[in-house]
Amino acid sequence: MRGREARGAASKKTNLPEKSKLSNQDSQENSSKTVTRSSRKTSNANVLVTEDHGNGGEASNTVTEPGSSTSLSSRFKKAEKTKLSHGQNPTNSVVSTTELGQTKKRAKVSIAYEKETKRDKWEPSNWIQILHNIREMRKSADAPVDTMGCDKCMEDEGTPEILRYQTLLSLMLSSQTKDVVTHAAMGRLRKHGCTIENILKTDDKVLEDLIHPVGFKKTKVQYIKRTSAILLDKYNGDIPDTVEKLCELPGVGPKMAHLCMNCAWGVVTGIGVDTHVHRISNRLGWVPHPTKNPEETRKALEDWLPSDLWSEVNHLLVGFGQQICRPVGPHCTTCLNVEICPYALSPNTKSPRKRSPTKSPSKK
Ligand code: SF4
Repeated sequence: MRGREARGAASKKTNLPEKSKLSNQDSQENSSKTVTRSSRKTSNANVLVTEDHGNGGEASNTVTEPGSSTSLSSRFKKAEKTKLSHGQNPTNSVVSTTELGQTKKRAKVSIAYEKETKRDKWEPSNWIQILHNIREMRKSADAPVDTMGCDKCMEDEGTPEILRYQTLLSLMLSSQTKDVVTHAAMGRLRKHGCTIENILKTDDKVLEDLIHPVGFKKTKVQYIKRTSAILLDKYNGDIPDTVEKLCELPGVGPKMAHLCMNCAWGVVTGIGVDTHVHRISNRLGWVPHPTKNPEETRKALEDWLPSDLWSEVNHLLVGFGQQICRPVGPHCTTCLNVEICPYALSPNTKSPRKRSPTKSPSKK
């Protein structure tokens, strides 16, 4: 129960991507505005210096008041502070420029800020629209992962430790196994008694029969036995609460660890990238370069995807991959992303959308 509550709590952390994007855009816009304002300040500062030497003008009304030299100094110091905070060479700063009364260095300030804006992070084009479309296609929430995912495999009631253990076990069983098979196997394990103590004293062959037809059942039984022993000895019958410690358990990798942190502890530590998320991210161009494995994809996604979407995107893409963007023969013709999906638009893709129309019998 606690795992579900935690999952729910984690899910609440997700916001609309539009909001996130808008925030990013706002941020960028504000950044641009800041640059503009900074440039103006700089420009004014230079004008002020000139006017302080007797040229007069709007700004001189401010700085030629009593204590004007102090005002100028403080303005220059402020300008210098602003400039240095962007990591620029102090010799090229506004202070040097203005104190010398030279106007030719103004352009350098402008160039420095232009460089700043060019350091923006990479992100895929159309990703907000694509995400919106996937949400639309997934709104019925009737994919196997929605009803038989690893967060649906624990008992309805039990101690938090037992529920967390069952969450971890379902994740271990789910590797290269369909959700429906994992869910059924967990049902048989629960009926048998799915506690650390009971699993440890159950014969390996009996466990293999209980989890059949889960893939790699012999190996997984060994992993489960060894992991259960470690949990009992080292973690007092609970599961570890960090990705690093979870990854030390036999048969537990980064994907499982991040999903476990989310489902069992309600903490989003990273994106759980399985084969569906890996494949779809590459098809959609959500990675800057094609990635070779789920772990590479996870790092690439976490580089640009707002963290408040990390939990949601796993669930969304897994179900999307189970129903529409399937490994073989993706249903591109019914996909809302068909007009903006790089995979569907690629001339090398033999998607239904790209196939040449079959010859009509009348056109011989
Ligand atoms: S258009 Fe095809 S390949 Fe692209 S996301 Fe949709 S189903 Fe997947």
